[in-house]
Amino acid sequence: MSENRTFTIDGETIEYELVRRKMKSIRLRIIGNGTLAVSCPMRTPIYEVERAIVKNRDWIRSTTLRALEQNPKSQKREYYTGEKFLFLGVERTLLTAQNSRESVQLREDYIFLNARSLDDLDRKKKLLDKWYIQQTQQIFSQRFYAQIEKFKSLFPYDYKLKIRSMTARWGSCMINRNTVVLNSKLIYADESLIDYVILHELTHFKYKNHDKDFYALLTYLCPDWKARKKMLSNKYIYYER
Ligand SMILES: [Zn+2]
Repeated sequence: MSENRTFTIDGETIEYELVRRKMKSIRLRIIGNGTLAVSCPMRTPIYEVERAIVKNRDWIRSTTLRALEQNPKSQKREYYTGEKFLFLGVERTLLTAQNSRESVQLREDYIFLNARSLDDLDRKKKLLDKWYIQQTQQIFSQRFYAQIEKFKSLFPYDYKLKIRSMTARWGSCMINRNTVVLNSKLIYADESLIDYVILHELTHFKYKNHDKDFYALLTYLCPDWKARKKMLSNKYIYYER
């Protein structure tokens, strides 16, 4: 449960969302629409939260600007030819055409959108959203079961995949239910990064915590996981189509 709070410092009003969690220290994040999201341990007093915000004011300002620049919603989508949409790590150019048979197709760096009316923004958005959801389900499940197949002897059970939109993490693992949850925003990253998140979560079926054994197995499954982790930037989490 998050709580919206404000406070004033040097005449400037700062708004933020506060969530209390079981954690050890205060954490600040800027989410896609430029909101400052703060999480802190259960019993941290508010003055400590505010002190952390004030201390990081420069970082908050520059990160907010960057998040807003990267967020196409702040530039208002119109779904016209030439607009760019991230898909599997590449910015694809939208090409629209009027057609009574509506469809969305990806061909190399272009997304072809056929819509009954090009003036109907809601309709175009709906078509594209539906296409993204279908692609996400298809591609994630393909990658997920391919990794399990590849390391069958290590992962011999029936595993399930769930897809969710998350704001702070790429994936999670429900160990008792043999289920991996992937962040739907991974569809903006390329396949090798999706595989890395899948392998990280699968490793949790063997080792719950991020300890030495965990990283040893992850390195076996995905030798260049460090490089992939580095490439998996926040840009994809902040991106909104
Ligand atoms: Zn983990």
